[in-house]
Amino acid sequence: PQPLERHGPARVIAMANQKGGVGKTTTTINLGAALAEYGRKVLLVDFDPQGALSVGFGTNPHTLDLTVYNLLMQEDVDIDDVMVKTNVAGLRLLPANIDLSAAEIQLVNEVAREQTLARVLRPVIPDFDYVLIDCQPSLGLLTINALTAAHSVLVPLECEFFSLRGVALLLDTVDKVRERLNYDLELDGILATMYDSRTTHSRQVLQRVAEAFGDKVFSTVITRTVRFPETTVAGEPITTWAPASSGARAYRQLARELIAATDK
Ligand code: ADP
Ligand code: MG
Repeated sequence: PQPLERHGPARVIAMANQKGGVGKTTTTINLGAALAEYGRKVLLVDFDPQGALSVGFGTNPHTLDLTVYNLLMQEDVDIDDVMVKTNVAGLRLLPANIDLSAAEIQLVNEVAREQTLARVLRPVIPDFDYVLIDCQPSLGLLTINALTAAHSVLVPLECEFFSLRGVALLLDTVDKVRERLNYDLELDGILATMYDSRTTHSRQVLQRVAEAFGDKVFSTVITRTVRFPETTVAGEPITTWAPASSGARAYRQLARELIAATDK
């Protein structure tokens, strides 16, 4: 990809799937790191009270004074004081911890409750090329906030038969958010994850996904490998921890696909 002459405004992408363990957080970390390698300025938003995205960069979320929770719930908190640097140049993180689980309930009583995340991100949109929001595994108010703040959705989909069922429900939710809250919300695509080329099962699921979603499926497929769980322990992206690994190469390929599709 060409280097950018100037940065921003950001394309905001929600990484969503209400099923857990499908690769949302792994994709947020490694797609973000790969985009930053290509010179893009990237902000990653941890929007899951489990804080796995924050842990993935070696932060201990329980020791943080300020997280995305404070940003959402307190008027006087500045986003610059909440963002932290990562080991990757050009890649910053808005961390979260278990405090965020309270926001789901507290937001219910806020004015424009679905627009809260969009509102607090607005000041930094001009500074970044991509903002990736790592959603929690539910279709609750936090995820609705992410879909409302986003230009588009990227759906990591595990290559397992039952995973296809859940996607229909997710896409219904995306349609509702588009009709009611965010008229321009797009589907960037479905990303097949946890692919195991040795099993016919995995190959069949991939074929079904291609039949069902056609050109909405990314050409990049993420293979199942233990290197990903290992990077969580290492506290850094696979692109820096094992730069020549097939996993690192796959996420760079995804980054190139996204850059080509979004023209950024
Ligand atoms: P989610 O955020 O959707 O819950 P994660 O990205 O946290 O999913 O992935 C769930 C678990 O699977 C983590 O332990 C992660 O390290 C592991 N994982 C993610 N992607 C892969 C992959 N391609 N191959 C093997 N393990 C993976
Ligand atoms: Mg996660």
